[in-house]
Amino acid sequence: MNVTHLECALCGLHHEARKLHNLCVECGKPLLVRYDLRAAGRTLTPTSLKERESSLWRYRELLPVDNWNNVVSFGEGWTPLLNASKTSESLPLPLDLFIKDEGQNPTQSFKARGMAAAISMAKEFGVKKVAVPSAGNAAGAMAAYAARAGMEANIFMPSDTPRANIVECEQTGAKVTLVDGLITDCGKIIAERKEAEGWFDVSTLKEPYRVEGKKTMGYELAEQLNWELPDVILYPTGGGTGLIGMWKAFDEMEQLGWIASKRPKMVSVQSSTCAPIVRAFEKGERFADEFENAATVASGLRVPKAIGDFLILDAIRASGGTAVAVTDSELVAAVKEIGAAEGIFTAPEGAACLPALRKLIANGFIIGGEKVVIFNTGSGVKYLEAFD
Ligand SMILES: *Cc1c(COP(=O)(O)O)cnc(C)c1O
Ligand SMILES: [Zn+2]
Repeated sequence: MNVTHLECALCGLHHEARKLHNLCVECGKPLLVRYDLRAAGRTLTPTSLKERESSLWRYRELLPVDNWNNVVSFGEGWTPLLNASKTSESLPLPLDLFIKDEGQNPTQSFKARGMAAAISMAKEFGVKKVAVPSAGNAAGAMAAYAARAGMEANIFMPSDTPRANIVECEQTGAKVTLVDGLITDCGKIIAERKEAEGWFDVSTLKEPYRVEGKKTMGYELAEQLNWELPDVILYPTGGGTGLIGMWKAFDEMEQLGWIASKRPKMVSVQSSTCAPIVRAFEKGERFADEFENAATVASGLRVPKAIGDFLILDAIRASGGTAVAVTDSELVAAVKEIGAAEGIFTAPEGAACLPALRKLIANGFIIGGEKVVIFNTGSGVKYLEAFD
């Protein structure tokens, strides 16, 4: 609701809202949704939220769907922000540490948020067939939402994708193709075939709405912390959709008058064997080169080239944040550490934030007494092979 237009995130070109879009027609970069925030703020207020449903659709005035009948939902979002006091006690500094547990979403990851928005919008525009390249959880989420919407789901995944992701797609009716290669190779196949097949490409940031679904993590964080953002956010970064979305949400909330200008330091966490954002951050570059021979058991982080790289890097820098790489053995070990301390069976991607946090304490980036939020982006149940 309240969408005024779409705006290219790089060149600023405006695109008409009530039309199906992928990338900017001028420069080929992602489009972001712009709203009439004044109109949205008339009915959506911090007080009105107290009465609303426990899903991301509580922020409906700031989501793109116009006709409510088009919403495709399993009740995604409004996940708990859990304190992690036992983990915090194991650190050399006193910290106010929280885990935003996105593993509790439908299809067990925060990909549900993005797909709920993207598939609802595809339905609004009359799309019948969708396609996505995925290294794991995006596929499972898309298969589920497409099935619920009555759409044909075409999924292209690297052949070494965790087995749970392949099986869940098959069992929810998707057409699954396994590709000998990376997510970027899967994306190329879709780009080649989509026109002839009549597929709408829902690759992350190649359509404007997945980021809108994921931005609700930023709204929830503010609401759950009583409209005061934390000092630091650690975010396991693949395509960066969630980080970009939260950064957008913070701007929208400030314009709505709900929060002040203070922003959390945004920290991008990646695997040392696929760390294009960390490398570009350290080199001072705005765009990230493709990371050769990308490999990690944290399949959601295996994105060697992200189309929204400049948006991730801009947000990290504007926030005074940083980017950190951890090894696969560090992130796998952290799953058990968090699991035993907090009882949360995290995805390896989410667990990567703990060794990253330790590094940031060791190098003095994080100081005592700060409020720190770790994003556990999915559930460990999808990655059983990683614990063999
Ligand atoms: C996709 C995924 C990520 C990366 O998310 P982006 O927002 O694309 O950076 C992290 N963790 C898990 C579990 C994922 O499925
Ligand atoms: Zn553009």
